Amino acid sequence: MKRILTGLKPTGDLTLGNYIGAIKQMIKMQDEYESYIFVADLHALTVPQKSEELKNRIRNFIAMYIACGIDPNKNVIYLQSDIEYIPCISWILECSTYYGEASRMIQFKEKSKENANFSVGLLTYPVLMASDILCVDTDYVPVGIDQKQHVELARDIAIRFNKKFGDTFKIPEPLISAAGTKIKDLKDPTKKMSKSEENPVGVISLFDDKEVIRKKIMSATTDSEMRVIFDEENKPGISNLINIVVSLTGKTVKDIETMFVGKNYGEFKKYVADIVVEKVGEIQEKYNKLINSKELDEILDKGAKKVRELALSKYAEMREKVGVVR
Ligand code: AMP
Repeated sequence: MKRILTGLKPTGDLTLGNYIGAIKQMIKMQDEYESYIFVADLHALTVPQKSEELKNRIRNFIAMYIACGIDPNKNVIYLQSDIEYIPCISWILECSTYYGEASRMIQFKEKSKENANFSVGLLTYPVLMASDILCVDTDYVPVGIDQKQHVELARDIAIRFNKKFGDTFKIPEPLISAAGTKIKDLKDPTKKMSKSEENPVGVISLFDDKEVIRKKIMSATTDSEMRVIFDEENKPGISNLINIVVSLTGKTVKDIETMFVGKNYGEFKKYVADIVVEKVGEIQEKYNKLINSKELDEILDKGAKKVRELALSKYAEMREKVGVVR
């Protein structure tokens, strides 16, 4: 079985958009690949964080992924910062990376423009990402198009290191997966539902109460027609609600259009709300059982043990090869 590695950056609450667009794809992949999934908590430090908040978010994040269906028996799940050899590997790799290459990364160029006081970490984090990738000998890294350049950097660094010091790293490939359904903001269905949205009335958080979810869906923006028909260009609001139902139930667009012939938007919205409330309710029930449990720590301990061994072995090999040993 080929190995894949996915890093999750713990920023903001997960949304229904994350669940449908990303987590459901990961759930599918856990049967096709040997999956390594980690919370990229060290990466979160490239921008200022409040420590108590970050600590809670990391735990909430991982519990929520498992509650959504990421199976701890099929995946190796761990916290990046639990693997103390990753930053050591990163340092050696930084010394094999040119300043020019790192500063050419598009994300660095964009983010460093936003704030003149950016940290050195913003420049070097793609090398830390290369360490995450290379220390577990992964075959593939599923990424969005925005992260493809970072996987290519990891490949370049690995190829260069292998050439200079002999075969050390497996050369990873980016896996650009077919995009999942994009879920739109309920209030402004022309834009993506996003966890960083300041006005949350159009965003369903996986942590929202049932009544809040119901209210948000019932007040979703629609149009002045009274026809439940899929037409993303002219009826983005209704089409978004149809997409949500299709993604959560496996029903087809046609099924839904047929079910609601001659019915009004209120009835349709109530139907959508029932489905979302039930799904999010199931997820929250699992989440609540997990969040303060020993089981969550056991999952993370087991993952850390496995990856620590891999990372230590890689680091020891690198130390020997570059000559930093007694
Ligand atoms: P983000 O929340 O922007 O950091 O994205 C994390 C992952 O969730 C990425 O794979 C996104 O493509 C996916 N994602 C985020 N928001 C949505 C959305 N509204 N619809 C579908 N996928 C989403």
